Amino acid sequence: MENVVIIGTGCAGWTAAIYTARANLKPLVLSGTQLGGQLTTTTEVENFPGFPDGVMGPELMGRMQQQAEKFGARVEFKKVDQISKVENGIFELTVGDEVIATKTVIIATGAAPRYLGLENEMSLVGHGVTSCATCDGAFYKDVPVAVVGGGDSACEEATFLTRFASKVYLIHRRDELRASKIMAERALANDKVVPIWDSAITEYLTDDQGEVRAVTLKNLKSDEISELEVKCVFVAIGHVPNSQFVGDLVDLDENGYIIQNPRGTSTKTPGIFAAGDVADHVYRQAITAAGQGCAAAIEAERYLADGE
Ligand code: NAP
Repeated sequence: MENVVIIGTGCAGWTAAIYTARANLKPLVLSGTQLGGQLTTTTEVENFPGFPDGVMGPELMGRMQQQAEKFGARVEFKKVDQISKVENGIFELTVGDEVIATKTVIIATGAAPRYLGLENEMSLVGHGVTSCATCDGAFYKDVPVAVVGGGDSACEEATFLTRFASKVYLIHRRDELRASKIMAERALANDKVVPIWDSAITEYLTDDQGEVRAVTLKNLKSDEISELEVKCVFVAIGHVPNSQFVGDLVDLDENGYIIQNPRGTSTKTPGIFAAGDVADHVYRQAITAAGQGCAAAIEAERYLADGE
């Protein structure tokens, strides 16, 4: 029987692991499919306190893991299919054929990239459609590429891609970026970044190898249709929370975010806590996710102490 199982290994999960491990709860951390979460697909993180010169996302996550393991957190590469409640306040996590029993659960599963929802889109992931500039940018040297979106992610990816691509079209559905001023200015100041305003991709066009060669664009103000030659489209239009597996032990809002009780990380089921991007649609920062992971750990510790 586990005291606490933490599902997820992003900033929220690792911080919860550090705190619960230091509280001697011997947490079991289940990593899911992406060890280290979203920051493993970014480059430099400039706004995590304590790193005045920035830190690479994968390095930061590696350090968090090291810190959690140093205090006794155990990590297993498993993806939870389902959470159910059995008697005496015990939860069972189904992982394939295995069942893990635990007294508390901290859900820190983060969020996954959102795609445009175009017909052949998912079959083109890896063939000229991607959500990860860090992973795939270097494959597109000296060719034109596009980034879709107007937020910090889109601007960050566009700036990063200028290292490789001949031109980076930044396609946004409005004529104003949502991104923070510093990120927007940095992207737009780069000569290789060409913004295409008020526009949406309506179709991916492929060559005879099945790789993206161009996209069809629609100007949302004039309805004008055009074709834009690009070898890859980097979709950066936000994320959807990874909450599909939680069942009815927690409530979700209309966008799938876990609803926490006011002023804390507890959920409608005592013993289940949620932290980070799976529950936070407002801040969605590495540091706020880490803060919620800390809060969830402290709340789980108090919950366990109250039950004894
Ligand atoms: P975001 O801020 O939610 O921005 C998503 C962008 O995609 C928006 O510009 C939105 O357009 C556009 N969009 C959404 N759905 C679309 C659709 N179906 N078709 C076309 N465009 C669509 O997401 P994000 O950029 O991933 O950022 C998420 C959070 O992470 C934010 O809090 C951000 O500050 C943070 N972040 C921080 C950093 C950093 O500081 N280093 C880096 C990356 C992300 P509209 O503007 O029209 O809504």
